[in-house]
Amino acid sequence: MKKDRLAHFKKHLLEKQRQLLEEVGKSALYGKGHEDDSIKDLGDQASTSYTREFLFELGNGDRRLLKEVTTALQKIEEGSFGTCERCGEPIAEKRLEALPFARYCIGCQRAVEEEERMATG
Ligand SMILES: [Zn+2]
Repeated sequence: MKKDRLAHFKKHLLEKQRQLLEEVGKSALYGKGHEDDSIKDLGDQASTSYTREFLFELGNGDRRLLKEVTTALQKIEEGSFGTCERCGEPIAEKRLEALPFARYCIGCQRAVEEEERMATG
C-alpha cells in the first residue's frame, strides 16, 4: 500500500482510538461489572499492560473494537496493514475505508464469523 494511503488510514485509526479511549474513561466511572471469560484471552493478546488496563474497563463492544484499532495501528508500524490475516491477500481499500481496522478480507470475514458462531453456539 502507498505511504499516503497508509497515513490516511492511520489518521482514521488514531481518531477512532481516541474516541474509544474517551469511552473508556466513562466506562471506568459507570461501567463496572463487565468482567467475563473473554478478558483472560484479551489480556494474553494485549501487548502492554497499559493497553490491558484500558481494555479491562471497557464494555464488550468497545473493548473489542479498541483492541482491533490498536492491532491495526501496530500493523501499520509493522508494514502488514491491509493484508488479510487469514488468506494473506490484500484487503480491498474500499473495505478498509469503511472499516480501517478490518483484519480479514470480506470472504474470510464471513468464514471467521461463521466459525465464531459455531464456537459460541
Ligand atoms: Zn482473506
